[in-house]
Order: sequence, then structure tokens, then C-alpha cells
Amino acid sequence: DWILTGKEFVDKNDLSYPFEERGLQFGDGVYEVIRIYEGEYYLIDEHVERLYRSAAAIKIDVPFQKQELYAHLHELLNKNSVRNDATMYLQLTRGSAPRDHAFPLNTEANLYAYVKDFARDTDSLEEGASAITMEDIRWEWCYIKSLNLLPNVLAKQNAKELGAKEAILHKDGMVTEGSSSNIYLVREGKVYTHPATKRILGGCVRMKIEEFCKEADIPFIEEAFRIEDFKGADEVFMTSSTSEVQPLTKVDEVTIGDGRPGPVTRKLQASYEKDAGITGTA
Ligand code: PMP
Repeated sequence: DWILTGKEFVDKNDLSYPFEERGLQFGDGVYEVIRIYEGEYYLIDEHVERLYRSAAAIKIDVPFQKQELYAHLHELLNKNSVRNDATMYLQLTRGSAPRDHAFPLNTEANLYAYVKDFARDTDSLEEGASAITMEDIRWEWCYIKSLNLLPNVLAKQNAKELGAKEAILHKDGMVTEGSSSNIYLVREGKVYTHPATKRILGGCVRMKIEEFCKEADIPFIEEAFRIEDFKGADEVFMTSSTSEVQPLTKVDEVTIGDGRPGPVTRKLQASYEKDAGITGTA
């Protein structure tokens, strides 16, 4: 396996990672996960734009021009002969320097990127999955895709221990997003989701959902809803690069609709599959 480190490709086995690294010691960095279908990146422009936005928000200079980064990311797929479904993980940190909270001087950002096989979870996409709700205890700048994921890790683990696929986070009862996804509620044919404020990560798939809704004349309403609203929901779903458009058929003890993925979710799944050029579960 070839790993992109800075501007070079290194065999996975020869990779050494500096211990005094700000990503490791402070979570001082940002990341992206990009979906790959049959050897092609999906939504790469959206992810690259967000990477630069996240980096700028925490004052990290990306040591690449965008065109150069694109070239390296494509080379990463070529070097690894990626032809199947996979994900690419990329992280950019403030660099390696003696430990000190303040930014180091004259230190270049570290970039690492690698590819991993990743199959679609078609059973779950067809059948739906369950979610639990939890208080959103994260910081105020969730629009930055930061490496600091401890609250998200703890939330996801709690969901897993309770047999659920996702933890839906709420601030004082207002649903923000999932531990690693955006959350939507469908009622009377309208799609509701938290506005893309600093409180949530503006998902790349979320941007697409807005577009798919517009194309299909489905009202896309950026209005926060409350956890109590799940009781009156016709459908609930979540989106992310790894989970795609995932129906949620149970939230805590509440069965959503008739407990099966609903028509609006199905339609958006079909739009996603068409856009990504993949064959359908919807
Ligand atoms: N919110 C959070 C907290 C996430 O970690 C993710 C996954 N990156 C998302 C939303 C969805 O983002 P995207 O659609 O870009 O994968």
C-alpha cells in the first residue's frame, strides 16, 4: 500500500510517524474522508474545498496548491491500482515540532493520505437502521472538520453498545447532527434539517441532498427540529460520505412511520446512486 505523505509516496511498511506531532498531541489538524466508487472519487471538489476552508479556519497553510493536491490524490489511486469501492482518508496537521500549545514557527503542515477498501452496506441501506439520541457536548465550531473527535467517538460507541447505527446529537433538545453524519426529518413530504451554521459540519452529501430535493420539487427546509418531533415524523434519514443516504427507522424507542424506509428517503437514495454512477438499492 502506498501512502501519500507530504508530496511523496511511501510504502506503508516504511512509514514513520513523528511522535512530537501536533495532530497526535493536540488534535491540531483537520481531515477529510472521500468516497471512491469503482476507482473514482465521488464529490472530490466539495471535499477539497471543505479541506481548505477547515484549514483556513484554524490557520493552517495547506502546503499545496489545489491543482497539485488533486494531482497527488489521483496519483494515490493510480499507485494503489484502486478499481473498487473504497474510501480515502486525508489528514492535515499543523506539523511536527517540540510540544508547545502555541503555533510553532517555521513549521510546515503534515499531510497524510491513504486508501482503504470499503464496501457499501446495502442491507442497511435497504432495510434501515436505528439511532439513539444524546446531548451534543461538542464545541461551538463544528463546521470545522477537526481531528478532535473524542465526543463523537464516545457518542458512536454509546450507540454501538445500544445496538444502534448512529447517535443523533441535540443541544437542549434541538437536533444538530449525528456523531458522523447529518440528520433529516421528513414530514408531509418536506425535508427538514439543521441549518448549516457553525453548530454542524456542512456535509458534502448534505449539499447534494439540497440539490436532489430541488430537482424533485421536494421542499428542503433548513430549520432545526426537536427530539420530540421524531414522534410525528414520517421518515428520518442520515447522510455522510461513508453511510450515503441511510434510512433511520427507529430513534430511541420511537418507530418511524411504519418502520420501513419511506418514499422520500428512497427517492433521495435513487438520486444519490444516479449521481454517483452506482447501481441501485433504491
Ligand atoms: N457531520 C459530521 C460530524 C461528520 O463527521 C460527517 C462525516 N464527515 C458529516 C456530518 C457528513 O459529512 P459528509 O457528507 O461530507 O461526509
